[in-house]
Amino acid sequence: MDPYTRFESTGLAASKGPAVLILAGIHGDECEPIAAALELIKYLRANDLNKGQVTVVPVANPSAFKSSRREGTDGLDMARVFPGRANGSETERQAHEVHGLIAAADYLVDLHTGGTAMRLAPFSGFFWHTDVGIRERQMEMARVFGLKRIWATDARVEGRSLSSARDCGVPAIYAEMGGGGGFDPDTVAAYLKGCLNVLRWLGIVAGEVEEIQTKQDWIRDEAPESGDLDRLEVSPAEGLFVPSKRVGDVVETGDLIGTVWEIETRREYPVFSNAVGQIFMLRARALVDRNSRLYGIWPLDKFVKLDRGSI
Ligand SMILES: [Zn+2]
Repeated sequence: MDPYTRFESTGLAASKGPAVLILAGIHGDECEPIAAALELIKYLRANDLNKGQVTVVPVANPSAFKSSRREGTDGLDMARVFPGRANGSETERQAHEVHGLIAAADYLVDLHTGGTAMRLAPFSGFFWHTDVGIRERQMEMARVFGLKRIWATDARVEGRSLSSARDCGVPAIYAEMGGGGGFDPDTVAAYLKGCLNVLRWLGIVAGEVEEIQTKQDWIRDEAPESGDLDRLEVSPAEGLFVPSKRVGDVVETGDLIGTVWEIETRREYPVFSNAVGQIFMLRARALVDRNSRLYGIWPLDKFVKLDRGSI
């Protein structure tokens, strides 16, 4: 793991404040979270903490980052191997180290994007934890983080940083937005603001929580394994994916999402929506093979609407 940077309050209240862990770079092709973590380090160098402790890990999986890939050089996706293994492969060892940081923390924020291949609608997610107190704190974290959509999903998913947090009883959220190659400064700004808001809400950083401008939509997805972004519709052929829709579009079952063109045969494979709802994830990299994820839909009619009183 890339060395983390830790900030501690020097005041008398230092030992009494909570310890927050901010993770970025679990996926090596997601650069805006890494930039946001670096901006946060810069901010915390210039501003003393009121209380508590903040640990920032800008690049949680260096081998993935160095090769600009989602997976490490051992081919493993770090977000599928938590809590890792002390004597495992490189990605498993990194996950094991990060697991140790999670176990020692009181709160976790894990920052992501769609990487170079996918584009995502802005949302914060958390597990529907069996502990009501943890659920409440996660909801508050997601609220002050400030992204438009808040998605509570099945708590039984394994292998994630949030699975480690769940097992350690640490309130945790993750954040997703953007992706698709390039670099979006708006994502960096939104993530820096979100992290600072969580730290202000906890009283670690001075100042009021910055007002949330966006009206937030809260949903609870009760489906088993919900939130697993690997379980998306995959491409029917190898070739070129040409989307007909954008992230955020609302679709009906059977609507055309896009077309995969098979180059050698000149054959086109239309890709139709398999649900009613909102596209929250869409393939951005045009080149696809038969295992490439193409799109994900939030079936909004099947979700339970959440509000702050629905815990
Ligand atoms: Zn990611």
